[in-house]
Amino acid sequence: MKNICLLGSTGYIGTNALNIIKNNPERYRIIALGGGRNIDLLLNQIKEFKPLYAVVINSNLADELKNKLNNSTNTEILYGTKGYSEIATLSDVNLAIAAMTGSAGLLPTFSAITAGKDVALANKETLVMAGSLLINESKKLGVNIFPIDSEHSAIQQSIQGHSREDLKKIILTGSGGPFKDSPIERLSEVTPKEALKHPKWKMGRKISIDSATMMNKGMEAIEAKWLFNVEMEQIEILLHPQSIIHSMVEYMDGSIIAQLAPTDMRIPISYALSYPRHLKVELPSLDLLDIETLSFEKPDQERFRCLYLALAAGKIGESMPAVLNGANEIGVNAFLEGKIGFLEIPQLIEKTMEKHESFPLHNIEQVIEADQWAQSRAKKILEKMVGK
Ligand code: MG
Repeated sequence: MKNICLLGSTGYIGTNALNIIKNNPERYRIIALGGGRNIDLLLNQIKEFKPLYAVVINSNLADELKNKLNNSTNTEILYGTKGYSEIATLSDVNLAIAAMTGSAGLLPTFSAITAGKDVALANKETLVMAGSLLINESKKLGVNIFPIDSEHSAIQQSIQGHSREDLKKIILTGSGGPFKDSPIERLSEVTPKEALKHPKWKMGRKISIDSATMMNKGMEAIEAKWLFNVEMEQIEILLHPQSIIHSMVEYMDGSIIAQLAPTDMRIPISYALSYPRHLKVELPSLDLLDIETLSFEKPDQERFRCLYLALAAGKIGESMPAVLNGANEIGVNAFLEGKIGFLEIPQLIEKTMEKHESFPLHNIEQVIEADQWAQSRAKKILEKMVGK
C-alpha cells in the first residue's frame, strides 16, 4: 500500500492521478491533498478521499474551506508554503506526488526528498532550478524519483534491463506545439488563446505556453540530464508531430529503444505510481494501422528561441537554469496578461540571462535567491519593454 501526499490535487495532473488512485484502492491511499485556489474542487476531493490533511494557498481560503466543510470530515486544513511542506513530510506518507505548477513546487518537493519520501515528479521547475541538490539528496537518502512527464517516463521505460554505461544518447521528442508550421512573421501577433491550444496534449495554462515556445522541451532536457545522469551534449531534441513516440534512448551499438503510447497523461502518471509494473489503464489501444507515418524534424532556432536558451542554460549549469526559469515565469505571465507579444517571451529571458553571473548552488536558499533575482530583474526589463 502506498500512502500518498498529492501536491497540486486540483490541477490537470492531480485530477488524473486521483482518477488512477480511485481505480486502485488496494494499492493507494490518499493521506493529504495540497490544492491551490480551486476550493470547490478541493472540497469535493476531500469528501471523496477523506484525507487526514488538506492545504490551500492562504489563510483566507483555509477559512472559506473550513466553513464549507462545516465539520463534516476530520480533515485538518492547513495553508501556505509551510502547510505544503508539512504534508509532504508526514510520517504516514511514503510517496509524494509533486504536481504543483511553477516554482511554488520547489520547497515542498525538496522537503519531501529530504524527509526520505519517494517522489513522483510532475513539477518541472524543481529539477530545472535545483537539479544538482535534489539528485544529491535523493542519492544520499536512497529516495526514488519517478518521473511523471511523458518523455521521462518513456526514457525510464527504455532504460529498463539495459546497462547504463552502454547508453549513448537520449532523443527527446516534442510535437512542436501549435505554431510549428505557422509563418514566422505571424508569431509576433499570436494571442494567448491560440497559444493555449495544443494540438496533441491537454494541459495546464503555464505548460501549454511553455510547449508553444518549446521552453518546455528545453526544461525537459535539463531534467533528463539530472534524472538519467547524462551530459547536455548527449541529449538530442527532435520534433515529432504525431506524438506517438514519447522519447527514445540510443545505445553504443546503434540500437534505439523507444516507447510508443496514446497521448494520455494517465499512462505516465500510472507508471510513476506503479513502477516497475504497468497498471491497467482503461484506454483504447494505439491504432498502429491508423498511423501512416512517424516523422521527425530538427526544431528551428529562430522559431523556438526559448528551447535553445534553455539548452544553453543547462550547459552553463549552476544558478543559470533557475534564472532561466524565473524569467520565463515572468514572461509567460506577461504574455497571458496581454502585456507582451509571443516573441518577446524569449527576448525577456535572454536579456535576464545576459545580466546574470551564474554561481554554484550549495543549498536551497541559494536556489531561491537565484529565482528571486531573476524574477525581479525580469520585471524591471519587462517594464522597459512595455513602456516603449
Ligand atoms: Mg512532456
